[in-house]
Parts: sequence; structure tokens; C-alpha cells
Amino acid sequence: MVCGVVKANAYGHGMIRVAKALELAGVDYLGVADVREGIELRESGIQIPVLAWLHDAEEDFVSALNHKIELGISSKNQLDRVAKAAALTGIVPKLHLKIDTGLGRNGSTEDQWLPLLNAVLALGGAVEVVGIFSHLSSTNREEDLAQIERFDAAVLVAKQAGVNFRLRHLTASDGSLSYPQAHYEMVRIGVALYGLDPFSTNRAAEFGLIPAMTAISKVSQVKVVPANHGVSYNYLHRTAAQTKLALIPVGYAEGLPRAASTFAEVLIAGKRFKIQSQIAMDQFVVDVGDADIAAGDEVVIFGDANTGAPSADDLASVCATINYEIVTRMGGRFVREYVEGRA
Ligand SMILES: *Cc1c(COP(=O)(O)O)cnc(C)c1O
Repeated sequence: MVCGVVKANAYGHGMIRVAKALELAGVDYLGVADVREGIELRESGIQIPVLAWLHDAEEDFVSALNHKIELGISSKNQLDRVAKAAALTGIVPKLHLKIDTGLGRNGSTEDQWLPLLNAVLALGGAVEVVGIFSHLSSTNREEDLAQIERFDAAVLVAKQAGVNFRLRHLTASDGSLSYPQAHYEMVRIGVALYGLDPFSTNRAAEFGLIPAMTAISKVSQVKVVPANHGVSYNYLHRTAAQTKLALIPVGYAEGLPRAASTFAEVLIAGKRFKIQSQIAMDQFVVDVGDADIAAGDEVVIFGDANTGAPSADDLASVCATINYEIVTRMGGRFVREYVEGRA
């Protein structure tokens, strides 16, 4: 089974639109961080199971149950609050118990695992355990394999305690590619759904992935300036000779990292240019020399490397980050347009 992860506005791709496409495509579950995202999915008409795993300290779970959201449970405290919501609403919550196998984020500690299982058993039919899950650190193969072992041990403890469940799920995109032995009954796939290399190593095509997001703008103005003309704040670039400057109305308000100034390349009318000057809040300038560039020409900030465009990985690498952050932060004045019918 596949849980399609659509948290963080589907990694910047637009949660509702992506969720509907995934539901139509037959994914089994949708994964979100919190209950609010899950409620948004339900309010948009999503019918398939939705799992939320990251809860506010004061989350009361009543609306989660009313909206049929399955819950990741990491502690006795969360279990108590879900049990209370169950009593209030008369709804039997569907739970996925989370064991921390080493990542150190949420999930029950190994110490508290058996007490948590016993607390679940004590609730009898008031709650239903659907699954047991955990999350890898992706530090290296050795650490991940150790987590897989600890996961198997925790599952065994649950079975021996008499807890019944159908699903074990551990791996996200990277772990699902690296450890086929750890797919269990379900995998939780986020970044790879969007066609991105989960290792941020520019190998999307090697994995058969096609990046779904292309960040496109248009040159808003071109002008000829003389030699030694400063360009944008702090004059990180000065023109070497008479040249053309192309102004592109995208900045860090749109999610283009300011840190990419002087490093990132963009594709303008099919040609690669470096952004030599400072990226501002809502615009950047490219010195295009004597290239045949005019106002209205298409500018690809990143997209599918196979088209000659820089990839999200390329942009990420010059900003010391990962492709996840690049696509997730895209917003501002960008308008999302969806192209149907691509694989
Ligand atoms: C975000 C997340 C995922 C998906 O991760 P990807 O690396 O994008 O596939 C899976 N499981 C959990 C618990 C997550 O937080």
C-alpha cells in the first residue's frame, strides 16, 4: 500500500489538487503532518483514509474524529486525549502507534512502548489500532538498518502484548528506494511523488522520476546599459561592457532563495544564464550580454533537468539545502497552473 504524503501544501504543489489526483490514481492513504491539514482534505471531499501524525500539545482530537482522520499516536498523553474525544463523540478512533526507533522526533521511546501498548489494550474496543509505524533518520545505511531492527523488535513486542494491527509502515521516499526489505504493508511517499530525487543528488531521471513542478516567469523588461554599470543591491555585479539587462519579476518573496544570488542559473528563451547580481524581494536582474533576449521571453527558474532547465537540486545545492525546501517554499506571486495528462 502507498500513503501519499501531502503535508506542507503538498510540498508546495497545492495540497487539494494533488490529493484529488492521488485519490483518483488509487493511493491507499494520504499522509499529513497535522489534524488541520487533514480537516482541509476532508472539507474538499477527499474520501480515502487520511493519517495525521504531528499534534499540538493542546489538540483535543474531537474534530479529527468527526472528520475521520486516523491518528499517529506517540505517547500516553496523546492516547488519553484521543480516548476522551472517543468518549465524547462515540467514534472509535483509528490509531497508528508510533515507535521512535532512533530519529528522536516524535514516537514513543522504547521505555514507554510497552506501557503505551498496555494502555491501548486497557481501552478495549474504544480504540482501533490500524498500524504501527516509525521514521528513519537517513543518516547512513548502518544507522537505518539498526532502526529497521528496532522497528521489527517493537512490532514483536506489540504482537506479544496482544495488540492487533494490519499495517506496518516505516520508509519514506529514500528508504523505500534503498530498503525494499522494509516496505512492510505500506510506504509513505512524499518527495518522490513530486518527481524529485529524495537524496537531492540530481538523479531523478535515474529513478524514473519526472519533476512535477516547473517554476516559470517571463522577462518583464530588457534594457541596454553601458560598461561599469552597477546591477541590483550591493553591486555584486557590474557590467564589463555595454550589455543588456533582463529584469525578471521573481524574488525571495516567491521563494527564490536570496542565497542563490551569484550562484544560481536560469534558462531564458532556452539559454542558460547565471544570476550574477543580488536577488531582491520581488525581482532579479540577469546580464544577458548580446544574447537575443526580449521582454516576454520565458524564464525557467527550475524544472525538469531533462529539458535543459536547472533542476530544483541544482538550485538547492548552491543554497546549501535540499530540493524539498526549494519546492516547498515556492509561493508569493507565483500562480499554480496544473498540466493534465503527463505521466
Ligand atoms: C514527510 C514525511 C514522510 C515523507 O517523506 P519523503 O522523504 O518526502 O518521502 C514520511 N513520513 C513522515 C513521518 C514524514 O514526516
